[in-house]
This record gives sequence, structure tokens and C-alpha cells, in this order.
Amino acid sequence: MPSGEYDPDTVEAKWQDRWVDDETYAYEGDAENPDTAFSIDSPPPTVSGSLHWGHVYGFTLQDFVARFNRMRGKDVYFPFGYDDNGIASERLAEDELDVRHQDYERREFQRMTQEVCAEYEAEFTEKMQSLGISIDWNQTYQTISPEVRRISQLSFIDLYEQGREYRQRAPAIWCPECETAISQVETEDDEQPSHFHDIAFDIVGRGDADDPEQFTISTTRPELLPACVAVFVHPDDDENQDLVGETARVPLFDQEVPVIEDERVDMETGSGIVMCCTFGDQTDIEWYQAHDLDLRIAIDESGTLTDVADEYEGLSSEAAREAIVEDLHDAGALLDRWGITHTVNVHERCGTGVEFLVKEQWYVELLDKREAYLQAGKEMDWYPEKMYTRYKNWIEGLQWDWAISRQRSSGIPFPVWYCADCDEPVLADKERLPVDPLSDDPPVDACPKCGHAAFVPEDDVLDTWATSSLTPLINAGWDWDAEHEEFGFENPELYQFDLRPQGHDIISFWLFHTVVKCYEHTGTVPFDSVMINGMVLDENREKMSKSKGNIVAPDEVVSKYPVDAARYWAAGSAVGDDLPYSEKGLRAGEKLLRKLWNASKLVESLTEDAPPEFDHDDLAALDRWLLASLDREIERLTNRFESREFSKARDGLRGFFWHTFCDDYLEIAKQRVRDGDDPSAAYTLSVAHRRFLKLFSPILAHATEELWRDMHEDSSVHQSGWPEPLGVDADFEAGETAMEVVGALRKYKSDAKLSMNADLDRVEVWGDVSGFEDDISSVMHVDELAILSERPAIETVVTGVDLDYSLVGPEFGSRVSDIEAALEEGAYETVDDELHVADVELGPEMFEIQKEQRYTGEGEMVDTEDVVVIVHRD
Ligand SMILES: [Zn+2]
Ligand SMILES: [Zn+2]
Repeated sequence: MPSGEYDPDTVEAKWQDRWVDDETYAYEGDAENPDTAFSIDSPPPTVSGSLHWGHVYGFTLQDFVARFNRMRGKDVYFPFGYDDNGIASERLAEDELDVRHQDYERREFQRMTQEVCAEYEAEFTEKMQSLGISIDWNQTYQTISPEVRRISQLSFIDLYEQGREYRQRAPAIWCPECETAISQVETEDDEQPSHFHDIAFDIVGRGDADDPEQFTISTTRPELLPACVAVFVHPDDDENQDLVGETARVPLFDQEVPVIEDERVDMETGSGIVMCCTFGDQTDIEWYQAHDLDLRIAIDESGTLTDVADEYEGLSSEAAREAIVEDLHDAGALLDRWGITHTVNVHERCGTGVEFLVKEQWYVELLDKREAYLQAGKEMDWYPEKMYTRYKNWIEGLQWDWAISRQRSSGIPFPVWYCADCDEPVLADKERLPVDPLSDDPPVDACPKCGHAAFVPEDDVLDTWATSSLTPLINAGWDWDAEHEEFGFENPELYQFDLRPQGHDIISFWLFHTVVKCYEHTGTVPFDSVMINGMVLDENREKMSKSKGNIVAPDEVVSKYPVDAARYWAAGSAVGDDLPYSEKGLRAGEKLLRKLWNASKLVESLTEDAPPEFDHDDLAALDRWLLASLDREIERLTNRFESREFSKARDGLRGFFWHTFCDDYLEIAKQRVRDGDDPSAAYTLSVAHRRFLKLFSPILAHATEELWRDMHEDSSVHQSGWPEPLGVDADFEAGETAMEVVGALRKYKSDAKLSMNADLDRVEVWGDVSGFEDDISSVMHVDELAILSERPAIETVVTGVDLDYSLVGPEFGSRVSDIEAALEEGAYETVDDELHVADVELGPEMFEIQKEQRYTGEGEMVDTEDVVVIVHRD
């Protein structure tokens, strides 16, 4: 029996352990019957050891969906993945073991990374369990595991065989520090000090040969002069329009380049004339492709200048910059130089400014199928709906196929070798996967195209998104069936997944790429629905960041507040919207837990003799009304959970429980049971309480479990099933009016210092309480209850006028005292909306008329909102 204060520390830890030990959330799995499964493709977090708000918030929302569907009778598949094959995990292993990945054979280093990650994964598991997330811990996977490596390589081979992949020399964003190609999403902007250089370029054929006409280019990267292939002018730049079509000569290096007009020029920077180098930034790549320009690679993989840079070959880019600036100065081509702070595109992991390189890269073809992927997006239900627009905009703005090559030594290898003579790619046998071409032999002895016997292994690895975009296939056990020569699923009932939950920041990467991969491999869309969560902001709705110092660590929050209170707070925003951190929200959650606990104690004490069954037709009218209202609330709540309107679900249920049940019904029922044996009330209390625990269980997972097992059953509330409406009929309006009458009489007795079971001789009610008369009389000990057919004469008396001095003062100044005196004497009148007093007129915003209801008939009137209650006592 619940007693004392609610103790969340003990209760929550106890159930978190029990749920894991008892496998409360285990997926049963029925391959024959896909309709019973509810499958969630939960996001595999990067293994780094720390828990951040994205995890807490995102997984809590997923948990609401999981718990609700489990209660609705679904066999919920809620797995957990650890993303441990990316650069983050590699770095973690290097730091932890104090080694460099370059010093190890790739497979060996993967094994070491896996060992290091295992510890962090155990910690991660513990943290997720301490949030009460109802994950099935038998269903976990690691992206570095051999099984996932196999699926990832199978995916590569299948797309290749379908003709969806190609290999091409192309510009790639490159980190010279990490020595790898990276994708746009791995870069960020950083403010860095730098210098602007005004450099003079000659115009070929204009002016004298020894004194040519010139124009000025402003650049922060003079070391890229050897890579300059064109000069651009904006079409709206009238001042420099005459340069278009001319040829320019690059100082020091003397290559001649065309001057071209293009709208991508930023006219606000420097002289408005810019050079295009292959490659300084993203725009350079666009220009290079759009205008079919030359390729001059001046900087190599390690950030060193190449032979294109003549005498500067072999210098680092910083050293080359200094040397070139000095030589420009000596040649008279450096017109000016000044310090600035500007935005540099850097690799988010190491902070190094990115470069662009041309490499042989593998691509997945996307651009030709944009329309199909748009349609695929439309086949899924979006929560919230507006997020589809982001997906759509991303596809419509796509300009590149998907580069999946990464030049790292660790990661999942491409299962490919190339003929040393003709470069023909040879792919691994599907049966033998996973392979590592660096240590394994190709499946053939000679090139199928030219017969040559030597091969070069591909030493690139796959982009991590190329693997994480396969999570539905990993979860459902997608594999190559060699016997039947086709792909199939170990758990076909899971695919397509009922839900993909994720953050809005990776719609363009994780979601889009998952749709592409699954669509190409299976021919169907991977998800029935997508639920996008927002971010957790600080209390002022600002993004949390280290530099602002406004980060609130989730670990601290859940050590200070009950996890259920955090879950309550997390339910407080519309899905898709950002959620501001809120102490107030957490405390409101705590208060609700206390309310639930204390109400439960009271219910327990009142229901000791409650009959297990009761004919609903024999229930007192108030009890029928309560159960019917609860029916209506269940229907509402079910719809809200189904449409993922968590905050409406939470607030609606809380309001009904707190006000209708606790404030009104429970007080009345308490009195009835204590007054004497009342099986109808006791039965209703017991039924309603069971239902409330079930309804609250998706959000307040721990407290409801504690109370359920203590008061009702030995098995988990989370497996107890969602309540179906009882189908009890009641006149809702009359019931509510009756509650109001009872509330008014309780207040009357309390104000008059009467005990609640004191007799009242006669009570007159004006209002519809039909069907509830006997209940009102017996609960409030009314000898005679009369329902009035006419509203009793109630006068509305004006008792005074309140002035808004913030308006009246400035307007009337010294006349205010005259106005006050006149009001005191009652010497005023209201004309239309205005107050005429002391010879002035006050607008409606300046005053408020105070009124009071006055009843002058027999008996005492009790104040209520919508009904009239008059008490007669001898
Ligand atoms: Zn880097
Ligand atoms: Zn060959």
C-alpha cells in the first residue's frame, strides 16, 4: 500500500533494473503476422560517452510512442544501435589507447576501436536505462560489427550491380589535417583572423606593353594565385562591366585567364572582382563546372604546394602565402594589405580550414531520380506535416550525386579491387563479406576484362552515412540468400518500419539517404511514418552552446529531478517544435507526481471493500457520470497519442485528473464512503484509478508502475493494455452542473464552519441537474432539494468604480481628486461606453465598473459560475 511521501530515487532505480531483468519490453516476434509488430527505427547515437539533450529529448518522445503502442496491444520492436565506425570513435580509441590508426592494419585497428567503444557503450546503455526508455536490450547492434560491415558492403555491391554507382575524378571537400574527404555536413563556419590583400592583375592587350592597364582583386588566399583559372565580375557591376570578355594575366605566375560574368560574385567584398581558383571554395567548384574551366591543382592532400606553384612547390600553404605576399610586394603588385576577421569553412572535428581536391571517388547516382525520391517522401506520414517541406526542398536543391568515398584508414572498406593494368573494378563475392581488400585477396586470379593478374586494393572507406542509411535493413536482418540468389529479410514482419524518429537537423542526410538506399534495395519506402523532434533550447529559447556558457547538462537534471518529471516536461511541446529547458516545467512534473501519489493513497484507503464487479446500471448517477467522462477523456487521449500531439495529450489528461477527478469527484466520493458503506462510489474509485494509471503510464512510466504493482496487479502496468471505453451513458452537462452545486454547498458548509455531514433543511437550485437530485441530496445531506423553474430575482448592484491611474493620472492631472470625490458621492453616469463624472469624460479603457450579485429573497445565495444555489437553514 503506498504510504509516506513519494520517493522517486528509490522507486525509479528499482523499476529501471526490474524492467531490464524481467525483459519487460522484449519484442516477441511473429514473422507470420506483420500486423502485430510496431517497429521503430531508432537513431544509433555516435559513441562518445556523454549524453546530450538530443538523446534525452528524442528518445523520450520515441518512448511515448513505444509505450502507447505496446499498451494498444502491439508487439513493439524498439532497438538500440551504437554508431561506432566513424571518425569520432576512431579518435576516441586513439586518445584512449594513445596510438595512431596509421600504425595498425585496418582490421586490427577496428578490433581495438570496438574494444574501447564497448566500455563507452556499456555506459551509454546504463544512461539510456536510467531514463526509463523502454528499449528491448536484446535488440542492439553496432555499426562496426562484422554483421553491419557485411550489410554495408552488400549494399555497395547491389547498387553497383544495379548501375546506381559510378567512379569519377571530382572535387571533394578535403581536410588537410585529417587527410580525408569529408562531406558538407561535417564542416562548420569559424571566425578566424586573416588578411585581405589587394592584388593588381594586368589586362592583356590593354595599355602599353610595359605599362598595361590593371584591375584589383581582393583575396585572403594569395597562395592560390597559381591555381587561378578565371576572373569573375557580377552582371550588375556597371563599373567593371568593360572587363568582361577580356583576358587577365595572373601576377608572379603569368597564366592568362578569361574574365567572365556570373551572378555568384559577391559585389560587396573588396573590389567586386574575384578570382576563381581550383579550388578555394564551393563557389569555385560551381564555376569550374558551370564554365568548363581548366583544372590547376596547386595544393595536395597534406596542404603542400604542388609543381603548379613553380618555385613555391613543397612549401606548406602558410609558408607559401608569406613568400608569395613578399614577392608580390617586391613586384609592385601588392597594392594593400590589412587585417580582418572572417568566416572560414572548417572541419568540425579538428577545426582545420578545408581545402578542395580532385580525387577518384565513388558516387551514388541521385540526380536522375529526384522525382522518384520526392514521391517516396510523399508516401510517408510526417509528424509534423510541415517537415516534409524540408525533405522536398533538399531534393529540389540537390546539385550533386552522393560522394561515398572517404580517404580514412579506418571505417568500412569498399569491397573492391582494381586491375593493375586496365583499372577494371572487381567486386567481392557476396558470400564472402565482409572483406577488407587491404588484407584479403580478390575473388578472381585474373582481370575479367584484360586477363592481367595483378590487382590494386581500394583503400578508401565508405562514408558513415552510407552505413547509417541502412538501419532499417540492419534491424530487419537484410541479407543475401545465396541459395535462392536474392535478397531477403530475417525478420520480414519489421519492414517497412512503422516509425522513423529523428532530429530535424539530419533530414537531408540520415532520412533522405535511408529512403534512397532502402528504396533502391527493396523497391519500397522504408517507413510508414516519420516523427521529427526539435531541439532543446535554454530557458530564454536560445540555442545551448559552450561559447555562450548556457548548457544545462542532462545528467545533472535527472539527478536533481525525478526522471518522470523530466518526461513530463519533455511531453510539453508540439512534436517538431523546439523545447526550452524549464525548471518550472520540471517542478510541475514533480507536483503532478505528488498529486498522483497522494490521490492514490486516498483511493487505496477508500477502496478496501470495493466490490470487484458492479452492474453499471445500478451505479449512482454521479459515478456513472465520472466513468462516462473518463470514457470521453480516453477517446480524446487516444487520438492525441495517435497523432503524436504529446503536449495536448499530457495537458488534457492532467487537467481531467487534477480538477475533475481529484478536486471534484474524489472529494465527494471520500465523503460518501466515509459517511457509510457506498459500494457504488468505492467501485468507481477503484475502476477510475486503474484507468488513470494506464493512461498516465506512457509519460509517468515509473510512478504508475509502482502504484499499479502496489495497488492492483503483480504484472507490469506497461503490459496491462490500454483501457477501452466502458460505454457508460451519462448526461454530461447535468453531471457537470451537479458537481458545481455540490462544490458550492461544500464551500457553504466550510465557510459556515459546519461539518460536511451537517443537515441542510432546504436547498433551491436553478439549473439543470436532472437525474442527479438524489446524489446531491444524499452527498450534501439536504432534506429538501427544490429545482426552481424560474431564475430567482437577483439584482446586479454597482458597488463602485475602479480607475486605471496609469491612464487617468497623466490625462487629468490635478482634476483626479475631483473625479474621486464625485465617484465617492455616486455623482456619475455611464453613457455608452464612457464614464461622465466631474464634468469630464473617461474612455472605457480608463475605468472598470464593480458589480455584485445581490439576492434579497429568503435564504442565502451561494456564489457559483453558472447556476444559482440558495440555502435555507432554520
Ligand atoms: Zn580534420
Ligand atoms: Zn584489366
